[in-house]
Amino acid sequence: YSGLEPQSLLFEQFNQYKVADVMIQPVIVYPDTMVNDAITSLFMYDVGSLYVADSTSKSLIGVVSRKDLLRSLIAGQAEKTAVAIVMTRMPNIIAVTPEMTVLKAAELISNHQIDSLPVISSDDQVIGKMSKTNIIDLLVELSSEEDA
Ligand code: ADP
Repeated sequence: YSGLEPQSLLFEQFNQYKVADVMIQPVIVYPDTMVNDAITSLFMYDVGSLYVADSTSKSLIGVVSRKDLLRSLIAGQAEKTAVAIVMTRMPNIIAVTPEMTVLKAAELISNHQIDSLPVISSDDQVIGKMSKTNIIDLLVELSSEEDA
């Protein structure tokens, strides 16, 4: 016995989950979507970030968060600025694939201090979203099963 704590059942269970098991539907906008319309989407779909995809290939080209949109809004430019101007763009996007573990996704979110990660397929299509909320929901679900 090494003196290390034995891994808890909760951790063992958590570690079995893959991104594909818990990812949610992303909200997608296009590079020419205006900032004010993107803000409307945040409220309509109750999300904190939007993913920007190429309108023909549908591949991921950017991420736009609440603060990215607020910056443009306080500058009074929301109606004349496209999200392409304010988004974080490739190759600076931290993304995951469906086969990656939820734990790996959690580490990326924590290390990069971001709220969510786009889930992309091998051909760069946006197929999902992993958010902090997803991860917390999984932990709560697993711990309530443990109590039962
Ligand atoms: P908020 O801006 O609402 O605090 P985030 O913390 O997620 O939301 O975003 C902080 C910054 O990081 C923003 O500029 C956003 O564009 C960028 N960002 C968000 N998610 C990612 C990601 N997965 N990869 C790279 N940059 C990201």
